[in-house]
Amino acid sequence: MSQTIEPGETIGVLGSGQLGRMFAIAARKMGYRVHTYSPDDDTPTGQVADVEVTAAYDDLDRVREFASKVKVVTFEFENVPAATTAAAAERTIVRPRGEVLHTTQHRLREKTFLQQSGFPVAPFRTVRSLADLTAALGEVGCPSVLKTAGWGYDGKGQAKITDVSQAAAAWQNLNTGEGVLEGFIQFEREVSVVAARGVDGSFVHYGVIDNRHRNHILDVSVAPAEVPAAVERQAVELARAVLEKLDVVGVLCVEFFLTHDQQLIINELAPRPHNSGHLTFDACVTSQFEQQLRAICGLPLGSTEVLRPVAMANLLGDLWSPRTPNWSKALSIPEVKLHLYGKLEARPGRKMGHLTAMAATQQEAIAKVTRARDLLLT
Ligand code: AMP
Repeated sequence: MSQTIEPGETIGVLGSGQLGRMFAIAARKMGYRVHTYSPDDDTPTGQVADVEVTAAYDDLDRVREFASKVKVVTFEFENVPAATTAAAAERTIVRPRGEVLHTTQHRLREKTFLQQSGFPVAPFRTVRSLADLTAALGEVGCPSVLKTAGWGYDGKGQAKITDVSQAAAAWQNLNTGEGVLEGFIQFEREVSVVAARGVDGSFVHYGVIDNRHRNHILDVSVAPAEVPAAVERQAVELARAVLEKLDVVGVLCVEFFLTHDQQLIINELAPRPHNSGHLTFDACVTSQFEQQLRAICGLPLGSTEVLRPVAMANLLGDLWSPRTPNWSKALSIPEVKLHLYGKLEARPGRKMGHLTAMAATQQEAIAKVTRARDLLLT
């Protein structure tokens, strides 16, 4: 049995974005110190952490030095190279273990793992040339989605193919040596389960969260999702099985498509707190960030109870144009909470922050949070 990492100890975070920032806020609240490591400075995480190390992920000596100063290393950025987590593991504990990151940061490895383990996924084929793509389109059919095998997020590096004649252009635009062709799922909606697993194998989850996307980017999340009890049970059981199969210690989110006939298909895994779980920060007894902290420190996991129906709306950089958002107007709705990530530059499509609102019903919570977001532009 491993030792508990007690409050007052120091935690290392690889990556320095908003997920690390909210993790650092939760950790500092509980008396931990936080060091963050990334190639950037004055970062969302660095602004909250005790120590911000600015160095390349492949500077393995710096990674080892970083790791030697902390009790446990976790990550908030999925594209940390495997060699980086391996170097950190030479000096301290890494949770979740580097292999979890390695599997889930690459679509092809992730999908192969899911399929071989018997989890429901969309039909897919590996594509390494235009000839592969043409053959794959014959097998998977149209419509389908061509995605890069690695380094993709928020719909980047994706193209929907509705006719074989689009294959050459889609392959050229993908501009990479390796892709995945996936069958297009006609879903009723998209949902996720954020779950955590402790060092002792204990498991908790936040139930099913309903996710609405705009331009392939998460727009609004709502909890609890209004899905049949059987769907909720199955989604949670699938999430539990994924965390167990990957032997995760930490937080992992499973993103699903829910089809019109109520079948769940796994779209993606994220081995860390997830955008859809941001609403847990205000609406749950224990946020996903505190849960990550408890899990990696070997502490008992906290209650995931959702106190009231809640909705979250992302704030993208587009809202900063033509002028700074009208914060006072949005906050004139008293139940609305503002989270800003401290990013220095507002670019279109960039996640700058989010709003949450709790209400008596899910519909009311959505109405409040989207009304508040609209007010930002007034
Ligand atoms: P991803 O980056 O793979 O999560 O994709 C971003 C979004 O694109 C998803 O949340 C879906 O809205 C859409 N999408 C991705 N793959 C598929 C698919 N196979 N079928 C239908 N929609 C998809």
